[in-house]
Amino acid sequence: MAADIKLDKERSVIEFAGFSFLLIDALDSLDVENVQYHSAVIIEGNDTDFIRQIVRRIRGHNSPDIYLKPVFLLKGTNLVDPMVNKLIDGTLFSLDQIELIVPEVERILTKTQDLHFTNSISFEAQMIEKVICFMYTCEIRDLDPIPYIYSAVNFAYPILSVNFRQKDEHLTLDILEIAEQEGLFNSTYVDRIYLCPGCQSGHMSYREVCPKCGSSNSTTEDIIHHFPCAYVGPLSDFTNEIDDQLDCPKCNKRLRHIGVDYDKPSVLHECKACDHKFQDFNVKAKCLNCSQDNLVEQLKSREIRKYSLTKKGELAAINGFVSTSKDIEEIIGTVKFDTFVTMLKYEIERLKQTDGVSNICAIHLSNPSQIYSKMGSEVQKVLLKDLVKVIRSNIRTSDIISFQSSSTIILSMNEIPTRIAKRILSEIIEMLKRLIATTFKDIEVEFEYEVIKLDHKLSPQLHIQKLTKAFS
Ligand SMILES: [Zn+2]
Ligand SMILES: [Zn+2]
Ligand SMILES: [Zn+2]
Repeated sequence: MAADIKLDKERSVIEFAGFSFLLIDALDSLDVENVQYHSAVIIEGNDTDFIRQIVRRIRGHNSPDIYLKPVFLLKGTNLVDPMVNKLIDGTLFSLDQIELIVPEVERILTKTQDLHFTNSISFEAQMIEKVICFMYTCEIRDLDPIPYIYSAVNFAYPILSVNFRQKDEHLTLDILEIAEQEGLFNSTYVDRIYLCPGCQSGHMSYREVCPKCGSSNSTTEDIIHHFPCAYVGPLSDFTNEIDDQLDCPKCNKRLRHIGVDYDKPSVLHECKACDHKFQDFNVKAKCLNCSQDNLVEQLKSREIRKYSLTKKGELAAINGFVSTSKDIEEIIGTVKFDTFVTMLKYEIERLKQTDGVSNICAIHLSNPSQIYSKMGSEVQKVLLKDLVKVIRSNIRTSDIISFQSSSTIILSMNEIPTRIAKRILSEIIEMLKRLIATTFKDIEVEFEYEVIKLDHKLSPQLHIQKLTKAFS
């Protein structure tokens, strides 16, 4: 190994050219939190499953400090997983080559510094922000769908699909459509897929079935047309038990040459389950995920498109993509997060001159991905609107509400003792729980909340950090 490469075996860290590379091998746990403290990651080993899992963990993480990190493979053999290949930034065949990846690490980290990250208000907006930020730092213009056997919809958009469990993967198609409506992408047609209407899986087994009973258990026989006497019947009518010659059951003549004295105009199927005889099958698609047996006409057809980042998309990556245009406008009674911070600053200034007590509070949904993956975007917005309505009706009109992210609501409670603010907030939480229980019967939402008293010696940013640090 070159002399200027410093390997710290204990910590699995290599220091080189002012960068620190975290080495991860198959013996490590799948915990990727450590990634944020290093410039780049090098994954060692030939275990394809491990590599796939660790790359998914890194790219599927919610924090840009982790999902945007340069990732390289150190390997002896060629890895064939097409999704992993789209999610890594390069490969090394030995650590001596580390010098060769330095320019790439430098380039990605510099591009990352251009970005301003925000907390997006809706799940869709979070996903969109992630995709465009990744594309920006990797300098990828096109988001190509790749045919992928592990994808529930048979095609993966790697940096997007990596965030979803298989059963929710169809949501990737919705999210890309929204991003295109927002002008962040242009798209072109690639292919068409068919999804189970029950569970949106594209993994299906197609079979020809009996039109009467739906069984796929059938036999098929040729139909014979004897020219001299015009008899038409299944092959079995013409066979005999003595030899393999064919004799016409109507005129008793022996059949000679196909095309000369007879032909086979079609076939006849016989169902072994119900004995029904028929010429045309129905085609059914049995879902391998939920077992529902669908007529092909009932399948949901969706387009697979290739998406290209627009100039607007690039700017959205740089400036942060908080919400789709509909997200915030629709939530009446809230202010933008930036506005909240500005007003908080004024309140802190004001407190320097008075003895009053003011507070900020946060309400956090502890299991947002479970909730949002169960809801369509419309339902999601209804939920957020309802939450705001309940909160609004329990605080003063002069207090303000904002979304820090789609899972954290923050609000001010000015000129009120902290102890009272805490009591009001716990009452609000009870009301929110009741609201959810009655509106969304099968969805369980867990809330955490926090109240802090404003301290005129601290900045607005520190207040918000302190307020939300307990939420994971
Ligand atoms: Zn049948
Ligand atoms: Zn005949
Ligand atoms: Zn299904």
